[in-house]
Amino acid sequence: MSSVRTKPKVGVSSCLLGQAVRYNGGHKRNQTVIDLLSDEFEAVPVCPEVEMGMGIPREPVHILSGNKRLVGVESGKDWTEAMHSFNYEKLEELAQLNLSGFIFKTRSPSCGIQAVPVNPKTSETTSGLFALAFMKHYPHIPVIDEEKLQDKQSRENFIARLRREEV
Ligand code: SF4
Repeated sequence: MSSVRTKPKVGVSSCLLGQAVRYNGGHKRNQTVIDLLSDEFEAVPVCPEVEMGMGIPREPVHILSGNKRLVGVESGKDWTEAMHSFNYEKLEELAQLNLSGFIFKTRSPSCGIQAVPVNPKTSETTSGLFALAFMKHYPHIPVIDEEKLQDKQSRENFIARLRREEV
């Protein structure tokens, strides 16, 4: 009798895989991310902004200093509640997949883990709204962003946690 071994699943901001989902129709393909996810793990791409219906291309958004609203850079259109609704449904959906980790896009107002600039610019920074909801909902699932992944020691620690090894 043969058994099929399933690969551990890892969530990833879709643009890092080369998917053209950014506000300007571009991507942020990252070879380190692709290499990490190619053999041992199965990538689960997520683009919060596209999946919640913002479209491609779209007006870029930023987070306002103080009230932390997610709004259009030019129009001021407020996407905060739509993002919260998306987060609620998406996090329930991801629960079915038993993710081993998540690789987020750096500094995005939706996907950034930390150090996301606010507007107007101050010394204050924040987290992207989807990444923040993910980390609150799944505090034990390891997360990293693609910049931190360039650091060898951080990358090895993250991979060890994906494999559920002691680190
Ligand atoms: S950073 Fe997140 S929201 Fe922005 S394009 Fe990439 S996956 Fe989509």
